[in-house]
Amino acid sequence: MPSEFELIARYFTRGTTHTTLGVGDDGALIAPSLGCELVISTDMLVEGTHFLPDTNPEDLGWKTLAVNVSDMAAMGAKPRWATLAMALPEVDEAWVAAFARGVFACADEFGIDLIGGDTTRGPRNFCVTIFGEVAAGKALRRSGARAGDEIWVSGQPGRAALGLAHLQGRTSLSEPRRSDCIAALQRPQPRVALGLALQGLATAAIDVSDGLLADLGHILEASGVSAQLKIAALPAPTLERDAYLSGGDDYELVFTVPAQARTAVAELATELALPLTRIGSIMAGPTVSIELHDLKGRIVEPPHRGYDHFMSPLEAGTVSPDMSLPEAGTVSPDMSLPEAGTVSP
Ligand code: ADP
Ligand code: MG
Repeated sequence: MPSEFELIARYFTRGTTHTTLGVGDDGALIAPSLGCELVISTDMLVEGTHFLPDTNPEDLGWKTLAVNVSDMAAMGAKPRWATLAMALPEVDEAWVAAFARGVFACADEFGIDLIGGDTTRGPRNFCVTIFGEVAAGKALRRSGARAGDEIWVSGQPGRAALGLAHLQGRTSLSEPRRSDCIAALQRPQPRVALGLALQGLATAAIDVSDGLLADLGHILEASGVSAQLKIAALPAPTLERDAYLSGGDDYELVFTVPAQARTAVAELATELALPLTRIGSIMAGPTVSIELHDLKGRIVEPPHRGYDHFMSPLEAGTVSPDMSLPEAGTVSPDMSLPEAGTVSP
């Protein structure tokens, strides 16, 4: 059986492209680019809570890094370096090799150097810390949304939740949607290029990990505003609709942009070949509330329990209060909104 050091040397030590000193010493050395701030974020994935024991290790390796890359995208930052701390119950070399392949596939895709970590025995879990760079003062925060801004979302939220529902036998998707949704679940594609392009354009941004409504709720809370949503593309069937509004794990970006920048966002959709959909407007606060309207302007009840559909059975008993959805507001007499629509590339 390989030792801890052999494992690190064999599977987690590779050449770096922009690092002064990587894996192998007591600490790594990195030199941030001139005029940039470092953006730092950590996420932990625990077996039985965030992934099931039989998860494909290569997909898991990709996702372990990708969820961290997504936080860089949401900050408008370029991911640059990462560390990986992991606990493994026993050394299954084939499993570790496949996991490392997934990690490095994601690292290569986004230009990230793996510069260190820790390896220990214990219940299987992985903790990545990622370091990104953003021009000083240009990071996208949750707190910048202002009344009158328009709310946009990238891609097609809910695909990962539908993929999970399919794998768990709660729905039956047919091709090609099945493959698309399962890929969204297993190999999420963080929207790094979009995040970078939103610098100087978006007033606030967040990545969708807990669900569109829940994560938009975090922007509203941080910004002290509320929102009206009028989603043209809102699917009718219950599961599809709940997936769109409350399905987590998609890693799309929700962002707010001043109304006068609508054309710029449309151009961005074309440039990035990524659909961007305008789903509503920011309203004056201070109470965090989301009103959901159908296209005729009627209030639609948000799926308060929608999130439950999309938790793994393992998580079902452990919803923390901050995962619940924002309360729907009351109908105001003048709730006319601009028609929302998708800008397709
Ligand atoms: P120390 O005892 O000084 O903390 P370790 O023996 O834990 O050092 O690690 C040796 C080297 O291997 C360090 O550079 C550390 O960052 C790196 N390392 C350990 N585990 C991993 C891992 N899973 N992925 C990448 N690098 C790792
Ligand atoms: Mg150590």
